[in-house]
Amino acid sequence: MVIAPWKNNAKAAYTIIHDDVCEKECDGIFEYADTIAFNRGLKLGLGAIVKFCEEQGDPMWNHLKTFVSHGHEIVCHSYDHGSPIDLGWEPESWSVDTDVVMTKQLIEKNVPGARVTYFIFPFDAYNDRRLNEIKQNGYLGARAGKVMYENDRGIGIDFTSFDPFTSCYFDAYMSKAEQDEIDALPEQERYTVSIYNDDRDDIEIQHVDSAIQTGGWSIQELHSVDDSQPWGWGHISVKKYRNLLDYVRKKQDAGLVWMDTPTSIIKYIMTKNQCGTTVFKDNLVHFSSADSIDKNYATEITLLVTTSGNPPKISGIQNSTRSAATRIGTNRFIMNIEPAKGDVTLAIGE
Ligand SMILES: [Zn+2]
Repeated sequence: MVIAPWKNNAKAAYTIIHDDVCEKECDGIFEYADTIAFNRGLKLGLGAIVKFCEEQGDPMWNHLKTFVSHGHEIVCHSYDHGSPIDLGWEPESWSVDTDVVMTKQLIEKNVPGARVTYFIFPFDAYNDRRLNEIKQNGYLGARAGKVMYENDRGIGIDFTSFDPFTSCYFDAYMSKAEQDEIDALPEQERYTVSIYNDDRDDIEIQHVDSAIQTGGWSIQELHSVDDSQPWGWGHISVKKYRNLLDYVRKKQDAGLVWMDTPTSIIKYIMTKNQCGTTVFKDNLVHFSSADSIDKNYATEITLLVTTSGNPPKISGIQNSTRSAATRIGTNRFIMNIEPAKGDVTLAIGE
């Protein structure tokens, strides 16, 4: 009996985070992204620049309320998008009280039901000090790797020593057309955004495919979804976005990818890592270190159950609550349970 690498035994995990929610040029996030994802049963991370939400007041807070009712996660993208560190071309403009603490409070106050537990840095710029501030102020993770800044592009593959503040690798999307415009600038102004092959016009699909090929977790950073001119930085067209989410949904239905919000995926990894080994004896499943699971991260994981005699069905009983397992093959089932809630009794044939 083992714990599946990802929920529902998917081969890989995938997250979309739209940065710059509440910025004017990102209105396409509530105009298109929210509905397109919701219609396909997919959940997004949505990174709010809180000052801009505040300035627009109730109409914008209502959009954020809709996001939460659709199961999306609102993540914090600072108060006014000042740079967390001095980048040379962008001076440091940062206050932990305003950008980290007050932002979380403002969102949670104005959007009932929102729990702000994930942080994305403006300009994807951070250092150990900034990461520590996030960690100490009620967040459960950050979109950041171990190195810093542009060097943390990529996919998380090895989760044995996963740290939710330094193991969330990512890649920022840019359309081929927009990248081509940047490539045509004078040499000193050129820069490359995505690590994926921008000779091809399918960077967003390459991103999902890499997750599936590696079995890892990839976080795709998007901005607005729109077809308007002038483009917002890093926008994706409505047609491409629909096509992307259709693609993800198809891969998810085929068991190849699990798309979810950043905090949901972090919780899965943390619970899997912290619950210890699964001991199966006399139809009882016991997690050797269930007691030491950090409650902030405790969530459901997927158990892979192999039986003998191919019973028609099985279910698990935990604290007198019964949950049916799903058959995935001969003698093979999957079952979603929460290790922090204690041992599970397997009911074979029931
Ligand atoms: Zn941003």
